[in-house]
Amino acid sequence: MDIVTRFAPSPTGRLHVGNIRTALHNWLLAKKGGGRFLLRIDDTDAERSREDYVEAIREDLAWLGLEPDAEERQSRRFDRYEAAFEALKGQGRAYPCYETAQELELKRKVLLGRGLPPIYDRGALKLTDADRAEKEAQGIAPHWRFKLDHGEPIAWQDGIRGAQHFDPAQLSDPVVRRADGSWLYMLPSAVDDIAMGVTDVLRGEDHVSNTAVQIQMFTALHAAPPRFAHEALLVGSEGKLSKRLGALGADAFRTRGIEPQALVALLARLGTSLPVEPIADRAQLVESFDLSTFGRAPARFDDAELERLNAAILHQLPFGEVRHRLPAGMSEQGWNAIRPNLSTLADAADWWRVVTGPVAQPPFDAETKAFLGQAAALLTWSDDPWHSLTGGLKEATGRKGKALFLPLRQALTGRDSGPDMAQLLPLIGEAEARARLERAAA
Ligand code: GLU
Repeated sequence: MDIVTRFAPSPTGRLHVGNIRTALHNWLLAKKGGGRFLLRIDDTDAERSREDYVEAIREDLAWLGLEPDAEERQSRRFDRYEAAFEALKGQGRAYPCYETAQELELKRKVLLGRGLPPIYDRGALKLTDADRAEKEAQGIAPHWRFKLDHGEPIAWQDGIRGAQHFDPAQLSDPVVRRADGSWLYMLPSAVDDIAMGVTDVLRGEDHVSNTAVQIQMFTALHAAPPRFAHEALLVGSEGKLSKRLGALGADAFRTRGIEPQALVALLARLGTSLPVEPIADRAQLVESFDLSTFGRAPARFDDAELERLNAAILHQLPFGEVRHRLPAGMSEQGWNAIRPNLSTLADAADWWRVVTGPVAQPPFDAETKAFLGQAAALLTWSDDPWHSLTGGLKEATGRKGKALFLPLRQALTGRDSGPDMAQLLPLIGEAEARARLERAAA
């Protein structure tokens, strides 16, 4: 059977780094198996879902190169959920409840106060037809819970966590539908996973107990559950899932000049036993992706590591991949000369100005001016003007090392360090190079 995975964000905000990681892993799992990767927009919550976020999710996935093979939307599938709900009701697996939020909260507090787990007491199952009729007559609409089968222990072989066991009696019957008829996440997700032929659900470990419940939903809906795998959560370098990390959206990375390849290379391997490396080749990441390499400990997201990867990725990117984002007129030689000095692509504009000028030279003392005057006079043009210039100057002046190179670099580029001068000088060109040396000497 071909692999089908899905990424199921709720469009209530931008994708943050944790979501991006889940999307990427589902994409990698699908590609590795030659299968399909679906984007499912979980927009059952009409109040909180926003169309601009749906757009942003699509854009972010496209930027990351994680385009889905198909897109589905839960808000267009309410009839499916209704049908599944009716089927569950028919089997007595969905039941109406009338407690108010305050009543439920009170019950929770009482249980917690006694040191007991706050499991729903199934009070609503004890209501008689007459009790229910009375509630309805008072105008109280029910919310609905899925009735877990306490006689059916829940177990699965988790792709990351190994054998998992849950006693359904230790779980609350989950609310699947609110009193206003709207759907909670749990049932629509199971219905869609069945209808869309999802074979592998890969998500964060905050969903482990949802999986326990959903496995019983799959069975109640006469479907075999998919394979499940739950990955350890992402934490900040300070060791906990900080607000900052949760707020780090794809857009923020993009604005900061992080390349999608860098984010992908980091998130593909973070939390696994494979080394994090600046791998720009997606096929290599697909090839090495393996759930069995995932650890159980939280994965630490380190911004400094991302920046290092970003630089290393930039240093490999070929001209053809970036030319549309480079300063006007920048040639392939220009890119190749400047690339090793970049932390972000935006820095290319600064470095390119070193070539195109004007450059701001530091003040030089009289001796250095004389040296630079000699340089202007000695400059000849060839395939390799830098080595002929420095060779000639060394012979003529006896200077070497820093005393030879630094004033030349400062006069020619206005900087103390930067790209390889042998590559830069041909780009600056003979006339401009001579003009800069003469200006420095004056
Ligand atoms: N919309 C759910 C979430 O964002 C999807 C969870 C799942 O993968 O099933 O948490």
